[in-house]
Amino acid sequence: MIVIDGSEGEGGGQVVRNACALSLVTGAPFRITNIRGGREKPGLMRQHVTAIEAACRIGGAACEGLTVGSSEMAFTPGKVVPGEYKFAVGTAGSTGLVLQTVLMPLCLADAPSRLVLEGGTHNMLAPPFDFIERSFLPIINRMGPSVTARIVRHGFYPRGGGRIEVEINPAPLRRIDCLARGALATRSATMLFAALPPDIANRAIGTARKALPDWPEDAFAVRELPVDQGPGTILMLEAEYGHVTEIVSGFGKLGVSAERLAHTAAHRMRGYEASDAFAGPYLADQLLLPMALAGGGSFTTVKPSQHSRTAADIIARFLDRRTVFEQQASGLHLVRID
Ligand code: AMP
Repeated sequence: MIVIDGSEGEGGGQVVRNACALSLVTGAPFRITNIRGGREKPGLMRQHVTAIEAACRIGGAACEGLTVGSSEMAFTPGKVVPGEYKFAVGTAGSTGLVLQTVLMPLCLADAPSRLVLEGGTHNMLAPPFDFIERSFLPIINRMGPSVTARIVRHGFYPRGGGRIEVEINPAPLRRIDCLARGALATRSATMLFAALPPDIANRAIGTARKALPDWPEDAFAVRELPVDQGPGTILMLEAEYGHVTEIVSGFGKLGVSAERLAHTAAHRMRGYEASDAFAGPYLADQLLLPMALAGGGSFTTVKPSQHSRTAADIIARFLDRRTVFEQQASGLHLVRID
């Protein structure tokens, strides 16, 4: 039995999600103590429980300690059964994080799957749907499987009610090396909003335009969603290159002005653009699991986050894989999984 101290390293939900995925693929049971011990409110939250329940359902796993607030759990995997599944996160918990938990085991299964995920689609501290669709999945598809995702309804915190559908055609994962991002193709800045005054969206997009003066005038747009999908708002700055798309998000939140949200997002996008890195910080931590399961891989990134280092540690507990973070002369980091 692999025993993990959930407070180590980054100490968040990703430890639990990666452990479930790795356990389903390798067949190794695990126990986690001090779940999310690094967080202000430790223990399992509703969205983690849904993610683990999803792992149990697709993988015939048995789990102890699976309740909201639980600080310890044990997971014994069974056999992954591909097929049609629907998972609903009761609150506006992130559908993207549920997907993170079950995607790799289903990508390596022996038949296709179709998932319906309900809950939040654009949540803070989680990959927004657009990031999954256009930043993360194209790289998974380059590794062998064919995964497509579509959004049926947007869901924002705290109301949720979003819905995404994902089709997974499995294939063995092959190693890829992602060192260069390729030539710049397009850039876009979109402020999505629902059931909020349009002025908020206009101010955010106006600030983004000023903060990204070399972006083309027609790159900036506001998009109003049907009122029943709100209230909520998100600014997404997207830069598409030949080999990768980076999406920087600014999540609308009470107490954060539209201007500040746009400023912060634009600052982060400028940082990414000014570097030569393939992966931004979020894509970096999300690529480690698929690359480890592929038997290796590499990519360049700006600066490895604590999430990335923790993901590498969890991977090493289940697989005989070493992740090396190497700073290069250019200041970029090369992340190599051997
Ligand atoms: P945790 O904080 O442990 O629950 O993990 C959060 C996960 O969500 C990590 O895999 C992050 O890469 C991902 N994530 C958080 N914020 C974003 C964002 N703005 N864009 C893309 N992915 C994100």
